[in-house]
Amino acid sequence: MKHYAVAIDGPSGAGKSSLARAVAGDLGFIYVDTGAIYRTVGCYVLRQGVRPSDAQAVEALLPDIEIRMGYGDDGLQRMYLNGEDVTEAIRTPEVSMCTSKVAAIPAVRAFLLEMQREIAQEQSVIMDGRDIGTVVLPDADVKIFLTASAEERAKRRYRELREQGEHKDFGVLLVEIEERDYNDSHREIAPMRPAEGAVLLDTTDLDFEQSCRSLREIIQEHMGL
Ligand code: C5P
Repeated sequence: MKHYAVAIDGPSGAGKSSLARAVAGDLGFIYVDTGAIYRTVGCYVLRQGVRPSDAQAVEALLPDIEIRMGYGDDGLQRMYLNGEDVTEAIRTPEVSMCTSKVAAIPAVRAFLLEMQREIAQEQSVIMDGRDIGTVVLPDADVKIFLTASAEERAKRRYRELREQGEHKDFGVLLVEIEERDYNDSHREIAPMRPAEGAVLLDTTDLDFEQSCRSLREIIQEHMGL
């Protein structure tokens, strides 16, 4: 049976994960959040107290890292670092910032490349990240670049944190988002950019339902489903 691959790239906070998860559920595909895989490496580097910009020191840590991905009873992706469930631990701002630096190191990207490709060979997937359409799955059936303005993404993050009872200054959130965008799109290896032939989906003025509908339509149209 043919396995389908949908590649979604775009900056943090554009809604990739929640949209991809919802649409994957509708289509019966597996959703793979590759940011979580990179975050697992970032988490290990942070815990070891190694500077994320020290490529040699980070590379030396890679043989000690065993990453496993699984799905909980709720269907959500869970990440295991050397056997420990780090699904929640990888979501802190410190891990986010460390990850975007670590992800610029060629050895880290090479370390994770095969793992991502193997996952897509085994089943139909919607995979999201920064270089899925350009590097990981260049032959994907559909490639999408999903984005929203930095202000809108910071607003969404602000609201999300408030709902969790946390308050963070909007200006700080915006600067963090812009800094990560800059790191991700200016690195030498696999920079974030739309893949050739990618469909652009800008969700700045769309709510969740509208974004979901657009994403589903793009995928169905391109795959003839
Ligand atoms: O998507 P998320 O914000 O969780 O990703 C965390 C970080 O991992 C990104 O800022 C980016 O630096 C890195 N990443 C990457 N390539 C991917 C997925 C994530 O470089 N395919």
